[in-house]
Amino acid sequence: MDASILIVGDGDFLASLSALAPDLATFTVEVAPNPHEATPLIQAQQPDLLMIQASQAGSLELCQQIKSQSHLAWIYCVVLDDRQPPTASDWGDRWQDDVNLEITALSLGADAFVELWRAKTQGKTTDGEVQHLISAHVQAGVRRVQNHRELIRTNDILSAIALSDPLTELNNRRAFEWELPRQIHNARLRGMPISLLMLDVDFFKSINDTYGHLVGDRALQLIASRLRHNLRFYDTPFRYGGEEFVIILSDTGNQEAEAIATRLCRLIGEQPFVINDSLDLTITISAGTASLLSQDDARGTSLLRRADQNLLRAKALGRNRVVGGLDGEAPEGTAE
Ligand code: GH3
Ligand code: MG
Ligand code: MG
Repeated sequence: MDASILIVGDGDFLASLSALAPDLATFTVEVAPNPHEATPLIQAQQPDLLMIQASQAGSLELCQQIKSQSHLAWIYCVVLDDRQPPTASDWGDRWQDDVNLEITALSLGADAFVELWRAKTQGKTTDGEVQHLISAHVQAGVRRVQNHRELIRTNDILSAIALSDPLTELNNRRAFEWELPRQIHNARLRGMPISLLMLDVDFFKSINDTYGHLVGDRALQLIASRLRHNLRFYDTPFRYGGEEFVIILSDTGNQEAEAIATRLCRLIGEQPFVINDSLDLTITISAGTASLLSQDDARGTSLLRRADQNLLRAKALGRNRVVGGLDGEAPEGTAE
């Protein structure tokens, strides 16, 4: 598997690392001369592994920064101690220093700590062993990345299942409850209007009662598909539940929302749905619209309540119609 490695260190460090770890060249390698210049690269490219020169100012803080950001925390950080080998006279102090540095590095978030200078000393450790140690850490980092990618893939699949309605393939109510506050927040940030459209199929129970639930299911699929294919690309339809749908209309004020709802009602009601070779069904829907007001809550509960109340009015007035209305105040983001 290919993996991307960012080496953070100066020229000397790079030279000694290249000599000790020639197999790094088989990966996609980039170099940043210091932690400061590494930061934007890490944000933009999200390398799989970081190999950091310990002796540079800010190197351990770089590990800490990465591990504190959830979208970067999976990056495997190897801190390499590149200081000179200890001499016979300072061996004892140096041993303590090294342990302290390793403890600090690991506690700030490094995944591994390798003492490069051991390659240069006689006796305990040889060049070959340090080389194998670096190579083993690269393999560990690659395994971490593979697991992380597999986890993201599984999460994507699970999110898609959790947020979509299996019958109509529209987004479901859970997706709506997640999306509406996000869109309200964006609309308020940009000073743009936003509206909701709630739709309910008229006399749907009688379709089930007359033709059976399978025909009812097919009718719901065809209604959802017709709605989806007749919306602007930035409007999002959801199956709210049963035979009810809700559509978030971005950058849309009250009058435009009513016009869109009227168009959709006509589109559904005027052209029968071909259920099978021997059955065409004429189906109508009723709709209520509402636009965001300054006093509406951030989750969209009061906005949704108004759209629902208008839908109930449309039902009470005889069905196959739209009820909107300004509720006595100009919606946010409009000059009305
Ligand atoms: P109204 O015009 O007042 O909305 O009348 P309605 O018959 O559409 O409303 P009601 O609430 O009485 O009935 C809705 C029906 O929708 C009842 C329920 O069994 C049916 N339904 C809900 N979900 C599904 C589904 O997934 N498949 C099928 N076939 N029917 C469903
Ligand atoms: Mg209903
Ligand atoms: Mg209904």
